[in-house]
Amino acid sequence: MLDLPRARDRMVKVHIRRRGIHDREILQAMREVPREAFVDPGFEEFAYEDAPLPIADGQTISQPYIVAFMIEMADVKPGDHVLEVGTGSGYAAAVMSRIVEQVYTIERHPGLAETAKRRFEKLGYENIEVRAGDGTKGWPEAAPFDAIVVTASGPGAPLALQEQLDVAGRLVIPVGDDPELQRLLKVTRTGAATYSEEDFGGVRFVPLIGEQGWPENGRPAEVNRPLRHPHSLSLPEMIATAAEPLPDFDDPGFGELFDRFADRRVVLLGEASHGTSEFYRARAAITRRLVEEYDFTIVAVEADWPDAAAIDRYVRHRKPRAGVIAPFQRFPTWMWRNTDVAAFTEWMRHHNEKLQPSERAGFYGLDIYNMSGSIEAVLDYLDRVDPQAAKIARERYGCLTPWQNEPSTYGRAVLTAGYQKCEKAALQQCRDLLAKQLDYAQQDGADFLDASQNARLIAAAEHYYRIMYYGGAESWNLRDTHMFQTLEHLLDAGGPKSRAVVWAHNSHIGDARYTEMGIVRDELNIGQLCRERFGDRAALIGMGTHSGTVAAATDWDGKMEVKQVRPSDADSYERLCHESRVPRFLLDLNRNDALRERLLERRLERFIGVIYRPETELRSHYADVSLPKQFDAFLWFDRTAAVTPLGPEHARTGVPDTYPFGL
Ligand code: SAM
Repeated sequence: MLDLPRARDRMVKVHIRRRGIHDREILQAMREVPREAFVDPGFEEFAYEDAPLPIADGQTISQPYIVAFMIEMADVKPGDHVLEVGTGSGYAAAVMSRIVEQVYTIERHPGLAETAKRRFEKLGYENIEVRAGDGTKGWPEAAPFDAIVVTASGPGAPLALQEQLDVAGRLVIPVGDDPELQRLLKVTRTGAATYSEEDFGGVRFVPLIGEQGWPENGRPAEVNRPLRHPHSLSLPEMIATAAEPLPDFDDPGFGELFDRFADRRVVLLGEASHGTSEFYRARAAITRRLVEEYDFTIVAVEADWPDAAAIDRYVRHRKPRAGVIAPFQRFPTWMWRNTDVAAFTEWMRHHNEKLQPSERAGFYGLDIYNMSGSIEAVLDYLDRVDPQAAKIARERYGCLTPWQNEPSTYGRAVLTAGYQKCEKAALQQCRDLLAKQLDYAQQDGADFLDASQNARLIAAAEHYYRIMYYGGAESWNLRDTHMFQTLEHLLDAGGPKSRAVVWAHNSHIGDARYTEMGIVRDELNIGQLCRERFGDRAALIGMGTHSGTVAAATDWDGKMEVKQVRPSDADSYERLCHESRVPRFLLDLNRNDALRERLLERRLERFIGVIYRPETELRSHYADVSLPKQFDAFLWFDRTAAVTPLGPEHARTGVPDTYPFGL
């Protein structure tokens, strides 16, 4: 049995409220009007999908979200007199009638007008008058109107309708001569003969046919086809239909949408730039849910291990390591020293407060770059647990000392200037430390994990900087393999039931085998390695945007700038998402075979890192990928904003309230 009232409530919550319609009168009216009474027999079960449906005479009942959106734009209020042109099924008129005093509605097909009238009578809606005729001429006897809503698209806003507006009255109408895409226009009467206009973006409607509309047969016949049959839908329309709108980040509904991934061993959350606030906030909201409800205890991020360790001590209520400098002081500081990350780490600390130390969620770095921080941490650890071993370690790491501040010069020096290679020393030190696990770990397991990871990092970084000199895939692969192995060590240390959330760039998380990286350059990444190791128990989730601002530098080591993100390229997946006209959504790429199939063919995807060069964007920031193979799901934020870096006041020493970033 269909539970239609429940489906109606869900539609209002998921498709209307979460997509940004907050007007209470509209939400209440949509909860009240039974849409199933306005669809043709046999279509009742689809009444609460957010899609247009076919009705008689080749027309459509509009998509619920569009109905709500147009009513909101028309700003209708109790006491208003409203004219609707294009009664169709009568649904939109019925919804408005629950808000305003009187609705007048005109339909050019007499059969539709008659059916709508009977529906209103049956439901007892007495404040709607229906007429059959050409609505482009308006309803002069009932004018002036506080609002006029036209639900078919014309070449422009008919003059008769503009003149029948009261002063301050609003006319909402789709206009434009492209049958596939029109603009939603709002005309407001500002005085006796003055009007203002606003454009609310792309929409798609059946044509307005009449004296001040299109001539009969004046537009291609196929625009009258029902919009919901999958084969007749364009790709952006299919995305819009499959898209699950995302609520506010703080709405519990945001995290709940990701419960479908809660049974995975690892959930990897990507991002299309390192400087976009929405990406960080989305990852925080999903992670909060997985940590709070599903016992994920490892948050592993694309940050350097020793820096993340300072944050980890803070969120797990452990004392800071003595004498250590504030974390994330190296370029690109804004990637982790930003207000979104600070808010998330505060949340982790608060969440952990009520838990036993062994149950607390930790914050770990997977990356390789802070070799000097790691050397310092290993020596500090050995000084405490085994001063004799510390002496030997100091000697071994001494080989790397000249390069600590500029490790990128190490490779060249070794290969071209005959400097000593430090490979053996770094590896031997790592082996020695790991061999003492039983001894050392007895003193403090958490500290041993930290020290051993630092020793591994030094060995990997020595190798990385040496081969980086050659460029190419080898150094990238070494770095991603190190990140993956660090994740494995964390999972091992947490036991067989441990589970992790990973935060890294899309280029690390989207399975490299289905991107230019793997296909052309032989590069692998964490996403690929996780799929190979965990199969279906890994979920790979990417993120993208169309335009807005981003925090990024122009050159490596350059200063952070807030840059404009160019609108996405016409051949990109991003452009398809943008044209869906759903502002923020989750696209589950494994739930809709028809859509998956159509998205498989490779297109461009945009990658913005810590560097963004809009001038050369197509060459430097786009790559060929197959999105449904690269990810299991994709999150879309049409317009996005740059992260806010923590200001200089946070870098001062000894400011307790800015710990752990200020330390
Ligand atoms: N508001 C309707 C609903 O909720 O079901 C959807 C209407 S449908 C998208 C547009 C309607 O406009 C069609 O029924 C079409 O016949 C009607 N129409 C087109 N031109 C018209 C005109 N000049 N006057 C009145 N109705 C017109």
